[in-house]
Amino acid sequence: MMEGFRTEVVDSHLIPSLRKPIAQILWIGCSDSGWAETRTLDLLPEEIIVHRSPGDLVSNNDLSTLSTLEYALGILKVDHIVICGHYGCRLVNTHADSSPLCEWLRSIYPPLSPSSTYTTYSQQHSDVNALYNAHRPELDALPISADRDRRLVELHVWAQTQVLLARPDIIKAQAERGLKVHGFVYDDAKDQCVDLIAGGSYHPSRGIMSVL
Ligand SMILES: [Zn+2]
Repeated sequence: MMEGFRTEVVDSHLIPSLRKPIAQILWIGCSDSGWAETRTLDLLPEEIIVHRSPGDLVSNNDLSTLSTLEYALGILKVDHIVICGHYGCRLVNTHADSSPLCEWLRSIYPPLSPSSTYTTYSQQHSDVNALYNAHRPELDALPISADRDRRLVELHVWAQTQVLLARPDIIKAQAERGLKVHGFVYDDAKDQCVDLIAGGSYHPSRGIMSVL
């Protein structure tokens, strides 16, 4: 399955600063990312609420994540949520076989809907890396393992944005104040952050994302 998104380097002014210490972004990053949240966008530190989890995971089974979402959406009333993964994340590409890491990774792809691909694959495969299985033909077509790992990280971040967009509280905030959900991936080798943007296709032979 090819996901319809492309990548572009994040514009530091993508989200304009208010120049006031008012939270306007909930930033969900990975516990082992070395990327400082305030480096990507030209914002005051107070404008970004940070939540980190192993694998920048949005889990319906995690009280910390759910509390952070409720706080950011209902009390701080942020206008943006950023999911920021990073290339080379060992958590996204790991195959744990014991708890608790196994259970944590198993919840990476919670149900989007009763018929969603992620749900189907999670139920059919005991393997923790259900997303890889869901995209196995596309990923296995990439001859270089590093390219497969990078693509899996992008698919993972994209999946997390889709999980958020399916939540009733997100849908409500979108309708009420135009809340936006962004998927970023930090590229350590290039010292830059890319934005996953809906619309586009992936070309395994060229190893790049491009516009349709
Ligand atoms: Zn990581």
